[in-house]
Amino acid sequence: MTTTSTSVPEVWFLTGSQALYGPETLDQVATQSRAIADRLAEVADLPVSVVWKPVLLESGSIHRQVLDANADPACVGVIAWMHTFSPAKMWIAGLEALQKPLLHLHTQAGIALPWATIDMDFMNLNQAAHGDREFGYIQSRLGVPRKTVAGHVENPAVAERVAGWTRAALGRHELRRLKLARFGDNMRGVAVTEGDKVEAQRRFGVAVDAYGVNDLVAVVDQVADADVDELVTEYADRYAVAPELLPGAERHESLRYGARLELGLRGFLTDGGFGAFTTNFEDLGGLRQLPGLAVQRLMADGYGFGGEGDWKTSVLLRATKAMAVGLPGGTSFMEDYTYHLVPGEEKILGAHMLEVCPTITTQRPSLEVHPLAIGGREDPVRLRFTADPGPAVVAGLSDLGDRFRLTVNEIDVVEPDEDLRRLPVACAVWKPRPSLSTSAEAWLMAGAPHHTVLSQAVGVEVLEDFAEMTRTEVVTIDADTTPRGFGRELRWNAAYHRLAEGL
Ligand code: MN
Repeated sequence: MTTTSTSVPEVWFLTGSQALYGPETLDQVATQSRAIADRLAEVADLPVSVVWKPVLLESGSIHRQVLDANADPACVGVIAWMHTFSPAKMWIAGLEALQKPLLHLHTQAGIALPWATIDMDFMNLNQAAHGDREFGYIQSRLGVPRKTVAGHVENPAVAERVAGWTRAALGRHELRRLKLARFGDNMRGVAVTEGDKVEAQRRFGVAVDAYGVNDLVAVVDQVADADVDELVTEYADRYAVAPELLPGAERHESLRYGARLELGLRGFLTDGGFGAFTTNFEDLGGLRQLPGLAVQRLMADGYGFGGEGDWKTSVLLRATKAMAVGLPGGTSFMEDYTYHLVPGEEKILGAHMLEVCPTITTQRPSLEVHPLAIGGREDPVRLRFTADPGPAVVAGLSDLGDRFRLTVNEIDVVEPDEDLRRLPVACAVWKPRPSLSTSAEAWLMAGAPHHTVLSQAVGVEVLEDFAEMTRTEVVTIDADTTPRGFGRELRWNAAYHRLAEGL
């Protein structure tokens, strides 16, 4: 995607101390903190590079370091560790100025205490146990949003949580510069796909702007036939193309128009620097088909998408794909469609009219054409497949009027009970945790949307970190959820968020 940054994203590793320790100890602090930063980069599966910064000793340099982090477009977040005691009044100006996500890594240079040889020099050097408590206090006192991770970086759970936080920071970073193109407006009458685009830009950074669909039609119509020929050949290589769509067959022209649509849409998005988009089947202008295949392939390349003008889900999809970069498993636009309610076997069948991302399958998708009962255009081409089984999450963003709420549900994607021979679209079948009834009751109580992002790559904690960074309410439905507890959490959250916003 062209919207991907040209610079390699970085997290900055800041170490706090104070001049009181003297140069000899401070040299050891620097050497050890650099080693921890290097080790973190080695052991954690980080989608960013770790940039170690010189040990911070006083207020002025801390403030300048933070301003540099704010200003550097490559810096997606800051990790801070108080190797020794760093009197925290010196951090006030810096923490108040910080505009990038913060991870407080509470760690220590060594794992084991050298019991037999510990002397006061060792005690003097290895003081994170109280240095970080001082730092935790000032962050809480100032109300600084952050994530706190405790443990040695050699512990895989610590490395994984730090890596997850950097992924969340990447998602936030992506949204700060994301441009989203809406072709047409929302589906008429629908409530949940609406939302406050001004607040979204303030909160997430994303710019959401509408274009007349015929602006897209003009680009689609100008696509060169030779480019269509080439793309149709690529389709034949990558997918099991239905015989009726092959060159010379009766419906080949439908496939050619699908390719033309993809090239036009891709060109429009590339030229405008867009990383996400929406369509609306009610407003297709001069488009001959509802974009299906084109949307599926653009999602697979990392674009955010939402159907029926759903820009919030499109934003969330682009953010989640940015967080998932390099991980196994896919991430797709999804919609809760229909239920299997046989007791003990309850499942959700998720799909959409056409637009499910092929990254969630390792099958070779089939490329087919079928009628679409909605929209009143020519039959659209689409990829058909079933999502791979395994653990995943679904997440949805709703606008509650005074804030955005992110609702996340842990799920297990499963194989369909039988072949879905007559289903003409791609789909995923899953069992939500803890059960379909509790999941659905909680989801409905939260006012969470029917459009979601399904990700096999990104887990709950990453999405919760992302919500913290963007000061978005998050509620999670998992194995421990009960409707009663969830209902209470929603009421407490409402009080908290209204108070937190102030007057
Ligand atoms: Mn829909």
